[in-house]
Amino acid sequence: MTATPLEGTAIARAIKDELRGEIARLAERGRRPGLGVVLAGKDPASAVYVRSKTRSCEDLGIHHETRHLPASVTTEEVLGVVEDYNGRRDIHGILVQLPLPPQVDAVRVLDLVDPAKDVDGFHPENVGRLVQKRPRFVPCTPAGIMELLARHHIEVAGRRVVVLGRSDIVGKPLALLFLHADATVTVCHSRTRDLSAVAREADILVAAIGRAGLVGAEHVKPGAVVVDVGMNRVEDAGRLRGLLEPSRWPEFEKKGYALLGDVNGPAVAPVASALTPVPGGVGPLTIAMLMKNTVRAAAGG
Ligand code: NAP
Repeated sequence: MTATPLEGTAIARAIKDELRGEIARLAERGRRPGLGVVLAGKDPASAVYVRSKTRSCEDLGIHHETRHLPASVTTEEVLGVVEDYNGRRDIHGILVQLPLPPQVDAVRVLDLVDPAKDVDGFHPENVGRLVQKRPRFVPCTPAGIMELLARHHIEVAGRRVVVLGRSDIVGKPLALLFLHADATVTVCHSRTRDLSAVAREADILVAAIGRAGLVGAEHVKPGAVVVDVGMNRVEDAGRLRGLLEPSRWPEFEKKGYALLGDVNGPAVAPVASALTPVPGGVGPLTIAMLMKNTVRAAAGG
């Protein structure tokens, strides 16, 4: 068996195309969605993510602006930017790119985001609404994964789902979405005993742990659907051996790094029935759902 690739790029494009109609309808009401981004520090991965998000805004005609703040920024300064975006009528969605520099109190910053503009769905009010199954904004990566499965006609109800990772951004909200979709859900983390045995119970296995290639064939029940959320920048050629598909080596040699998922693709593909590629799987859906949330925020405000 070789796993069917669960491509995300075409689905993300379809979602964005659906949004174009809504954006045109908003334009008729004289409203153009606007996204305000906060980018603090010099993390290269964060800069790449923000660029991809703002490029999508441009593609759709969504207004965007990014406040670049130095790595030495204080909590008060970041709060000031959020407050400014909160008060602006032309900004409907606010994105605080994480991680913030270590001296910044991220909890205070995310708590200050107006819940009606919280397109990342990280504000406690929106988290609470998600827990109670009356969501307003759902975090983009978990929402994108559900959309990816739905549009590939993968049934969730009644199935055993194992989510590896319990972060507030991916693992926890995703587990809730699966639960609300009537799956039987197990959440694993760094203290889980016998991870591979638990993972092997899954009909749908999601890896969101941030460890390149950690999930191998021994974690996967034959025929399982495997979703790889990981985005790990690997610069060491030695670590890539056996993990990187031969066709991707020239790209690595050009860039000096490769993006790898948490799943060891070459080892898992013969066992799984379906597997999301990295890149081109979950990542594009994350951005598409951010666009969707921003358009919804503009429509609702
Ligand atoms: P995170 O906040 O670092 O959380 C990682 C989780 O994995 C934690 O719950 C941790 O357990 C668990 N974990 C770590 N090592 C483990 C191990 N050896 N065995 C079992 N569990 C382990 O990471 P995140 O923000 O959720 O992101 C996870 C990955 O997804 C990263 O590679 C990130 O870059 C990627 N990501 C991708 C997208 C996308 O759009 N594709 C979006 C967001 C994140 P503890 O809680 O016990 O520490």
